[in-house]
Amino acid sequence: EAFNAAVSSARQLNAFLVETPDHALAAADAADTARAAGETLKPLAGVPIGMKDLFCTKGVASTAASHILEGFTPQYESTVSQRLWDAGAGMLGKLNMDQFAMGSSNETSAFGNVISPWRRNDGGNAPLAPGGSSGGSSAAVSARLCPAATGTDTGGSIRQPAAFTGISGIKPTYGRCSRWGVIAFASSLDQAGPMARDVRDCAIMLEAMSGFDPKDATSLDVPVPRWEQGLNASLAGKRVGIPREYRVDNMPEEIEALWQRGIEWVKDAGAEVVEVSLPHTKYALPAYYIIAPAEASSNLARYDGVRYGKRDLPDGANLQAMYAATRAAGFGEEVKRRILIGTYVLSAGFYDAYFTQASKVRTLIAQDFDKAWESCEILLTPTAPSAAFGLGEKSDDPLAMYLNDVFTVPSSLAGLPAMSVPGGLDKHGLPLGLQVIGKALDEQGVLNAALALE
Ligand code: GLN
Repeated sequence: EAFNAAVSSARQLNAFLVETPDHALAAADAADTARAAGETLKPLAGVPIGMKDLFCTKGVASTAASHILEGFTPQYESTVSQRLWDAGAGMLGKLNMDQFAMGSSNETSAFGNVISPWRRNDGGNAPLAPGGSSGGSSAAVSARLCPAATGTDTGGSIRQPAAFTGISGIKPTYGRCSRWGVIAFASSLDQAGPMARDVRDCAIMLEAMSGFDPKDATSLDVPVPRWEQGLNASLAGKRVGIPREYRVDNMPEEIEALWQRGIEWVKDAGAEVVEVSLPHTKYALPAYYIIAPAEASSNLARYDGVRYGKRDLPDGANLQAMYAATRAAGFGEEVKRRILIGTYVLSAGFYDAYFTQASKVRTLIAQDFDKAWESCEILLTPTAPSAAFGLGEKSDDPLAMYLNDVFTVPSSLAGLPAMSVPGGLDKHGLPLGLQVIGKALDEQGVLNAALALE
């Protein structure tokens, strides 16, 4: 009875879109068998993992939380999920998310929002957003429904939900994790990564998920370091940069206090703290919200009612009408908004003014980081400009929602590894996250700085 009650209250979070207990049990059985036979256990032997529904999983519905993929069952496994199974893990289920990973609150899911397991301590019992787009992942790990989950991060979708729910999450260097079999949003930005309770678990997960994959043309052909073995919370001899421009207007006091705490913690761990400048920071959000929709509009052209999932074929419809009916009914409002923006900024008359310009800004932002690395090895910032907001609070104001990505988007545009770790609670008892950004391929440096903050 108690078990059933726990399961039903867990289900109220709406974190899982599909439950796959048999998959998880098979991994647990395999681990038991190996243990009984005295074999060396695989790194994730028997660990039940939640998979964001953006990963294609063979024989298990994969929808990107969109009606347009309803009825689509992949015939193949994404490289990242396959690597996790090869490392001994099993899948507990597919996790809810913002539709096509577009959003910061998980409210754009076609299958209902996810509810954060957290509540404010001031008596207000209003449900809170778990962050997004990996909101099912953050809620599930935070509520201890699974010890770890996969996420994807295009402009902050691993880090911001991790921050909102008091867990850890790392977006590795672009190209570390294969995008093969990950439903595409913005291909030049999309990266998979782990979300887990602490830094060590993230390191173990990331090690299993990473590695060169010839099936992804942007996959990096570099060795995967033993990150877990290399964990070290001392920052002696390291310089931690504090980017001046992240001190944005109207930054809430508690975010400022969080940042100060983080600065003290890295000092305690032996680091020297230096101020650095990332002068093009203020252009990152506008550039991101041109580049990401542009790539999305192209990537999502494939959902035409012919190849995947949903097809709406009105009576007497021709092909064109079938496309229109399918896409009108299949895509959610935010997805349509992005497709329209993307199509606009790529159109012949506006391409140079918007897309080319945004691409140039992106280069400048990447150069800002290169310059910063002349005076430090790691950057420390808040993960998000606020704690978790209430469900519905920003859902009809897309711009307010986009502004929540202000601290996560620059490192995405530059392809750099970045991680969020819990940095304490705000005055309402809600978790806040600190973000560590590192040089390309220096996940070890990022994980170690995160460990120092833990
Ligand atoms: N919130 C951002 C967006 O809506 C980032 C999403 C993501 O990283 N997938 O585009």
